[in-house]
Amino acid sequence: MNKGYIEIRKLYLPKSCAVAALDWMYHQGKKHKEGVALFAGIRQEGSFYIKRTIIPQQYAGSFNEGLLYVVEGAELHRINVELFDTGMHLIAQIHSHPTEAYHSDTDDDYPIVTVLGGVSIVVPNFGNGGLNVSEWALYRFYAETGWTLLTQKEKIKFLILVDDESPQLQTSKKPSKFWPWG
Ligand SMILES: [Zn+2]
Repeated sequence: MNKGYIEIRKLYLPKSCAVAALDWMYHQGKKHKEGVALFAGIRQEGSFYIKRTIIPQQYAGSFNEGLLYVVEGAELHRINVELFDTGMHLIAQIHSHPTEAYHSDTDDDYPIVTVLGGVSIVVPNFGNGGLNVSEWALYRFYAETGWTLLTQKEKIKFLILVDDESPQLQTSKKPSKFWPWG
């Protein structure tokens, strides 16, 4: 049986990758929409190094009482092909909620990341809190228990925010917005 990412014990998340996702969620939140982003990277034994944030083409709106986002199959296929070409793998999805961070029934039923040990992060308040991992809810997908919330302690051990390897490479780009969004 494919153990997927079950044996991944450390997930290294560069701050710039986190901010790229937060920026998108904040942008969507201003329109009262949820936003979703994906984290891809490279595995090395028990560690996974996120290298890239992907903002998939997505639709967001309200459904019954709640908000939701949809990423269509063709877009997921496009992303998979692109990742295959770069040798990267998808390990995590991250999306925003208007208020509380928790995995809703819809989140349980329609995840983008479906691999065992895969990660799903929910960010509260449309990402207004910025890079504040303590308020994020981090779930992992296990065969026995489905999407399972990590405790704060487990989360801090697992998810490690890292500074970017070469921030000087980014100076030629237009400065992107950083939290606090200003
Ligand atoms: Zn959700």
